[in-house]
Amino acid sequence: MVMGVKDWIKKAEGNGWRVHSADKLVLTLQCCKQGCDNRISMPLDNLGPEPEPCDQPHQFQYAAATFQAYENLVEQLIRRRRSLGLSQEDVCAAAALADGHVSKLEAFHRIGQLPTLQLWADTLGLSLTLSPAPLPNATIRAIENRPAPLQDRTSKPRQKRLFDDP
Ligand SMILES: [Zn+2]
Repeated sequence: MVMGVKDWIKKAEGNGWRVHSADKLVLTLQCCKQGCDNRISMPLDNLGPEPEPCDQPHQFQYAAATFQAYENLVEQLIRRRRSLGLSQEDVCAAAALADGHVSKLEAFHRIGQLPTLQLWADTLGLSLTLSPAPLPNATIRAIENRPAPLQDRTSKPRQKRLFDDP
C-alpha cells in the first residue's frame, strides 16, 4: 500500500471527514459539519485515494438545513424588534448585552449561544419553546443500532430473538 491508514485518515480529516466507525474491514467516515449526516464507507484493505470533501450544502460549521433553522429564528427576532420600534442599541441596553452585540447577531457576524438567544427573545417579549417534530433519519439509525438491552423490550421482538439465540 502506498499510503498507510493513519496518513490516509489524516488526509480525509483534512477534507472535512472524521472516522465514524471501523467495523470489521469497513471504514465509515462521517462529514464533520454539525447536522450533516453524510457518510461514506470503504474497505479498510483497499482505501484508494483520500475522499473528496462532502458534496452536501453547508454554511459555516453546519449543514445548510441546520443553519437555515437558526437564520429563520434570527429573522423573526429582527422583525419583532422592528415591529416594536426598537433599535439594536435599545435591545442591547434592555437585555444588558454588550454594545453592538445585537448588531453582530443580526448580521450573522456572531452565532448566538442558546442563553443569549433566550435573553434576546425574552427582551422582545417572545419565548423559545421546544415542540415535537419528526425524528431525523440519523436518530432513527442510532435507535436501531443501539445494543440490545438486557431487559425484554416488547416493541423490539426481532432484537430480542437475536439476543436470546447464541
Ligand atoms: Zn457534509
